[in-house]
Order: sequence, then C-alpha cells, then structure tokens
Amino acid sequence: MTFDYDLFVIGAGSGGLAASKRAASYGAKVAIAEQDLVGGTCVIRGCIPKKLMVYSSHFPQLFDAAAGYGWQVGERKLDWQHLVGVIDKEVNRLSHLHIGFLERAGVELIPHRATIIDPHTVEVDGRKVTTDKILIAVGGRPIKPDIPGMEYAITSNEMFHLKEQPKHIAIVGAGYIGVEFASIMRGLGCEVTQIMRKDLILYGFDKDIRHEIQNGMTHHGIKFLTNTLVTQIEKVDKGLKLTLSGAGEESITADVFLAATGRDPYVEGLGLENTGVDVISTPADGLGYSTRSAIAVNEFSQTSEPNIFAVGDCTDRINLTPVAIGEGRAFADTEFGNNKRSLSHQNVPSAVFSTPEAATVGMSEEDAQAEYGDDVTCYRARFRPLFHSLTGLDEKTLVKLVVDNKTDKVLGAHMVGENSAEVIQGMAIAINMGATKKDFDATVGIHPSTAEEFVTLR
Ligand code: FAD
Repeated sequence: MTFDYDLFVIGAGSGGLAASKRAASYGAKVAIAEQDLVGGTCVIRGCIPKKLMVYSSHFPQLFDAAAGYGWQVGERKLDWQHLVGVIDKEVNRLSHLHIGFLERAGVELIPHRATIIDPHTVEVDGRKVTTDKILIAVGGRPIKPDIPGMEYAITSNEMFHLKEQPKHIAIVGAGYIGVEFASIMRGLGCEVTQIMRKDLILYGFDKDIRHEIQNGMTHHGIKFLTNTLVTQIEKVDKGLKLTLSGAGEESITADVFLAATGRDPYVEGLGLENTGVDVISTPADGLGYSTRSAIAVNEFSQTSEPNIFAVGDCTDRINLTPVAIGEGRAFADTEFGNNKRSLSHQNVPSAVFSTPEAATVGMSEEDAQAEYGDDVTCYRARFRPLFHSLTGLDEKTLVKLVVDNKTDKVLGAHMVGENSAEVIQGMAIAINMGATKKDFDATVGIHPSTAEEFVTLR
C-alpha cells in the first residue's frame, strides 16, 4: 500500500520538530501539522520566554550588589511593556527560525490542527491525508481546578502577555512553574503571595533543596500561605478576592491570580478513539481536579497501535524539553535510521529557575534511603559565595552529594545558588558515567569557583 507520507507528525513543539527533521534526514517523506506558532510550549510559552523573564528579574539584585563593588547605579525603573514586547519579538524570531529549519530539512509544514481519522489517515485543513506512521507530539496544556470563579485566574500561557505589571500577584501551586513565576514576579518588583496545599514547595525534589529554596524565596520577600486552599475567586473593586481555607488567612486580594496547578496531556479531540491507542488515566488529586490522561507507550515510544508513536509531554514521562527532543530523535533513528535505540530516563538533570536557582541530577536523599536504607551518606556544604563577600547581601549556596556507601557511587548531586543549572549539567555527565565519590575527590577543582565545592566535600 502506498501512502501520501512515510511519517505524519502532529505538533511542532520540541519533540515533533526533532523527530520530523531526523526522520527526513534519513530520506523519509515527512509532514508536520501545527495548530499554533511553530516551536511549541518551550519556545512560545515555556522555557525560553520564562528564562528571559528570569534574566530581567535578576537585575535589581545585581544593582544592589554593584554598590558593594564601588559602582553607583542610577534610578531604576522597569518598563513592563518594553520587556513583554522584546520577549514576544524574540519568541517570534525563534519560531521563524524553526520554520526555516523544517524547510531546509525537507519537512512539509501544515499550519493547521490535525485529527486522526484512522491509524493511517489524518484530517488536516479539511483534507484527508494518508501516512505509513503517525507521531503524536501534541504536548500538554495547563489545567485549572474547577472551583467557583476560576475563569478569573490566568495560567502560565497568559503570564507572557500581561498588559500591565501587577502590583500584587497571587499564585496557587507549588510545582516548579509556580515557584519560578513567584521568583520572577518578585524580582520584577511585585508583591507575591504563593498559596499551597502542603507546607513545602517542589514535591519530589531533595528535601534539603526544597527547604533551602523556600527559605531563600521567603528571604527575597515572597509570602507563602502553606496548608491553604483557594475555595472561591470573586471580582471586586480592588482586583480579585480569593477566599481561602486551611491554615492561612481567610481571604486575600490581588490584581492577578495565576493557577499553576499542573498540566494535562493535550489529547482531547485528537481522534484517539478512532485508533487502538491506549491512554492511561490518573486522578489529579486535590479540590476540583479531574483526571489526567497520558498516551501509553513502550520504551521505543510506540503506542498499542503499532504504527502510531508518541513522544514528549503527551506521554507524561519526564516533561522537559531535552527529554521530548531525545525521545523524538530516538524514535526517528529506530523507525527510519535502522538504529534501534531508546532514550534513558535515568539521571535526567533538571533545574528550577527560582531565586535562588536550584538544579539536581540523580537521586534525592529520601529516594536513595528508600532504595539503599542506611547505606547512604550525604555530603553537604552551605556557604556564602565569594561574589557576595563584598555585596553585603545575605545569599548562600548549598551543594550536596548523595553517595551509596557500598559501591561509593554518587547517586545524586544537588545545588541551590547562582549558576546551579550550569554547574549541575557537568555533574550529570559524571553521574551518568557512574562516578564514585573517590572520582570526585580525585578531580582537581577550578579555583576560585562555586563548582569546586563538589570536589572538596568531606
Ligand atoms: P509541546 O512543546 O507542548 O508541543 C506540542 C505542540 O503540539 C504545540 O505547539 C501545540 O500547539 C501542538 N498541537 C497540539 N495538538 C495539536 C493538533 N491536534 N494538531 C496540530 N498541532 C497540535 N522544560 C525544560 O526542559 N526547561 C524549562 O525551563 C521549562 N520551562 C517551562 C516553563 C513553562 C511555563 C512550561 C509550561 C513548560 C516548561 N518546560 C520546560 C516544559 C517544556 O516546555 C515541555 O516539556 C516541552 O515543550 C514538551 O515538548 P512537546 O514536544 O512534548 O510538546
């Protein structure tokens, strides 16, 4: 049987773009459908615009720090419209860059929403096209809990298009997206209240790291309302009134309310019911949440319908850009490059671009103890980085290694402090190669640096 395409990719985000270009490089005839701007969550409404905002949010502290080094900094004022405008321009530039990459790779871009009609047919822009294989790379989208007045809340998608800088922003959610926006908005000069159901942010991360970040954020002026639920939102003269229950206050008023309460794979209306693709549904816990549905795949990203594959956030494995890219490339190598391989989901490093920044790779102390019991030693150092010896600012850095006593293998490396992501990226190579504590100790440090602390821990 002949098809219009060898591969039809749905979604031009991190995973879809990487897979389509790699498959085309092997000579496959590839089309990719995108219903929005090319680039997906990361480029358009995730990692990139967020990190640009993070950079902007760091300037006030740098201005403060500069005085300690003899610099006099003049009047400071944030031009919000300028910031939002230049970020939007950069996002559009990157989107066009990705369109150019697709063109050069010989991938046909179809700028429309696609739905699956049967395992070999996709409908796009009112026409039906046939394809040997389908790759679903539709990503995820933010979910809001179903509580009265939730229509007044915005999600991370809208954070990049606020017309005016809020004076007071309330954020519900303690995952990395909520934590990062809390730090960004505080750095940009807003009053920030972060509301969460439990008492500690960043569930799943190493506990020392969670405490260190939360204390650091409090030190920077973010107000945490812990063990607290938002039960209702009302529009009032002064903005939005949030009714609260739990240990916090009874209500607060803010001018913007961000629901950073998780993301759901974007499979609704995709036509999965016309295929044999299995979906895993898990209840999203908490007041007002429904279920999350992810596409079930094996290690080669193959679904239960043998010619349909899925990568990235829609499979809800590890929802990060480099993972989606890695899964997409491994799929293309396997199916079109005669190189059967899968992406390892072990020791995937990640960062939280909060202030203070944090990054981590491998096991937390708690996970290591659950697996290895008491045979785990943790090495820690908490110190004032050299940079701050003249700034007068009370900033600390924490580095931590989790080590298996029996094998001496380093199971995890964690850091809170400036440039954590840059430092931990290098540690991830060592840990992936199975480095031992002895290997770390035998490595000569770079002096003076923060990273050298990792090779001098006692
Ligand atoms: P996406 O990038 O979401 O792409 C899916 C694409 O499919 C979208 O463009 C969508 O429009 C399109 N689509 C959906 N349905 C259809 C359809 N039926 N037809 C046509 N097109 C369709 N990750 C990091 O690694 N580092 C970070 O710092 C980071 N920060 C983040 C910050 C925020 C605020 C958010 C929300 C996410 C962040 N992420 C970060 C996560 C990262 O963005 C995702 O893991 C990554 O984009 C997933 O890639 P994907 O290809 O699976 O999906």
